[in-house]
Amino acid sequence: MAQSASSRYLSSSLMAAALALAFCGPPCLAQEMAQGQGPAPRLASDAHTDAHIAEAIKQVSADHIRQTIERLVSFQNRSTISAQDEASIKAGKGIGAAREWIKAEFERYSKECGGCLEVKTDAFTEPPGERIPQPTEIVNVYAVLRGADPKQADRIVLVTGHYDSRNSDTLNGTDPAPGANDDGSGTAVSLECARVLSKAANKLKFPATIIFLTVAGEEQGLNGSKHFAQMAKQQRWKLEAVLNNDIVGGDRSPQQDLSVVRVFSEGLPAAASEAEIRRVRMLGGESDSTSRELARYIADVGRSYDAGVKPLTIFRLDRFLRGGDHYSFNQQGFAAVRFTEFREDFNHQHQNVRKDDASGIEYGDLPKFVDFDYVAHVARLNAAALASLASAPAPPATVKMLSKDLENDTTLTWEASAGAGAYEAVWRSTSASDWEYVQTVSSGTRATVKVSKDNVIFGVRAVDAAGHRSLPVVPEPER
Ligand SMILES: [Zn+2]
Repeated sequence: MAQSASSRYLSSSLMAAALALAFCGPPCLAQEMAQGQGPAPRLASDAHTDAHIAEAIKQVSADHIRQTIERLVSFQNRSTISAQDEASIKAGKGIGAAREWIKAEFERYSKECGGCLEVKTDAFTEPPGERIPQPTEIVNVYAVLRGADPKQADRIVLVTGHYDSRNSDTLNGTDPAPGANDDGSGTAVSLECARVLSKAANKLKFPATIIFLTVAGEEQGLNGSKHFAQMAKQQRWKLEAVLNNDIVGGDRSPQQDLSVVRVFSEGLPAAASEAEIRRVRMLGGESDSTSRELARYIADVGRSYDAGVKPLTIFRLDRFLRGGDHYSFNQQGFAAVRFTEFREDFNHQHQNVRKDDASGIEYGDLPKFVDFDYVAHVARLNAAALASLASAPAPPATVKMLSKDLENDTTLTWEASAGAGAYEAVWRSTSASDWEYVQTVSSGTRATVKVSKDNVIFGVRAVDAAGHRSLPVVPEPER
């Protein structure tokens, strides 16, 4: 934790008091807090920075990312139905060659960190379908940075991008489909996070496991991610967070905003049962899916670290008419979000490479339209989020809000988390998009906050001795 943390906390509690005075209307949160005992709540927007993580993310290199994207483009067509026979792999053409190169890259990073990465593949044969004319082998390539704490190594956070590409025709596996932005950029983010965080792992000793994934089959129907997410579900992985980067190239269109990256998250969980949806309705929990909490966590990371780009949370599963690999994970009940540049240029995605002489428009997903500095900023944000999540204690389990009696304060209970030194209750007004207040619970697994559960949404998160915060968990009412 940075040295200035305590002074930041002090100033933020003063700010909280000032805000309370400024916004006090009848009956307001501030009045309720003033009646409470113990320390005044702090502002949840307070930054908390780990100096080692801040140092680690500086190692992200725009130049290295450029090399990665140019190399991916050099395979000419990375369609899932493009060549993957031995001769084509040797010739450096098609998806097979791309996959072998990614594997070799992960292995190279692993060598540099003394074998700290396990490089793996998840291969399967996809049966014929609308966009798969014949049985096709799909291979997801990934690297595992195993958690340093045996008690927490089964907790997993994951970053992914898709290495397959397409041109105007989803069934064309031969003509150029450079896919520099879609999704060479996301693949480069996954690889760069692996390179930088594997290097930093000796010092940072992440207690939880980080997986750096690259999938295929996205353009044919999310086939690769679907298979991987199903495997995670079947094997009961404790997969806490999935960061999907797809089209994070910062296309050089004049109206681009390079200061932000959109972070999409689902509201009602795709995997929710009827009973769960009834509970969401009763609680007013429409904006508190685990994916949404992950998006808020990334917003917090964006305030705490200077990545060069700020997350812009979009409370929606995805853009209109489009989908992505995060959805495969959502469907299996995992928290997953999508990072995408602010403004897409649709002339530079899913297009045959060509120039229209009449209009002068250049079509095609070429490296020259990608801003490598921007991709590096997005990679830094991802690396900071992964490192924060993997450093944090496990999110508290069995979080309950006692609602036996009619009362105006709120009692929360939970189970102790591995690695936690303390806990924090966070809350926000029901109409606020992000957490507003925090109260530390320095001992025990129960807290009473002098704020009415009828008026706000609560969460509980675990904090370790160095100040790393877990994802918050929204309590279930218990009678
Ligand atoms: Zn894509």
